[in-house]
Amino acid sequence: MSGEKFTRREMMYEGKAKRLYATDDPEVVLVEYKDSFTAFNGEKRAEMSGKGRLNNLISSEIFEYLARNSVPLHFIERVDELRQLAVRVKIVPLEVVVRNITTGSIVKRLGVEEGMKLDRPLLEFYYKDDALGDPIVTEDHALLFGWAHEEDLLRIKEITLRVNDLLKKLFAPLGIVLVDFKLEFGHDSKGSLLLADEISPDTCRFWDSSTGDRLDKDRFRKDLGDVLGAYEEIYKRLSARDK
Ligand code: UDP
Repeated sequence: MSGEKFTRREMMYEGKAKRLYATDDPEVVLVEYKDSFTAFNGEKRAEMSGKGRLNNLISSEIFEYLARNSVPLHFIERVDELRQLAVRVKIVPLEVVVRNITTGSIVKRLGVEEGMKLDRPLLEFYYKDDALGDPIVTEDHALLFGWAHEEDLLRIKEITLRVNDLLKKLFAPLGIVLVDFKLEFGHDSKGSLLLADEISPDTCRFWDSSTGDRLDKDRFRKDLGDVLGAYEEIYKRLSARDK
């Protein structure tokens, strides 16, 4: 893949982990992954050289797998080590979290036991608003405050549960347990709902199934050390698998 297919235009947006650039095609954006880590609503920060590359590679592998399984995606293709082309979308201001095992904020918030295997996936919505610290909300909040329509929520839930099944199937043979993850969605110019953002060790919790080692951003959140080694391990197992 070469850079001939697009011209990078102005930067449209800079987030905590990625920059978005316009291209000559109004329907297409260039997503550039950054080397920065943030946690606890931006209170903890660090730069780690090589992190952007790993998340771009991992996210691209996962999106390519989901595309082969007919999940509607904003992802078009990986361009190089740091960048992807994606369909321009208007983001639905909801973070959709799926939990298969209890850990993280649900343990803190509800006092439930850590590491409980849930009988079925637990789906939660958070309102995307940094100033408010992304509060947890119900579907009714999303509907009544106009963040999403009923049919969007139905589609979002359907796609999210399918992605959970597909990701569990992808990672189990690699010796990785998919503990929980976060998805974001957007609408393209025709109004179609697409899975957007990224899927990486920044947005998922991955536990090694034999050792229980954390192979995700919890290594950064909890100062467990060798953060990039864990991301490298995820990429190594993903890229070495039979496709
Ligand atoms: N998550 C995310 N972005 C966020 C919040 C959560 O990607 O802004 C992911 C997180 O990596 C984990 C899952 O969503 O895989 C559930 O996170 P949790 O609610 O436990 O929050 P945390 O412990 O990260 O504050």
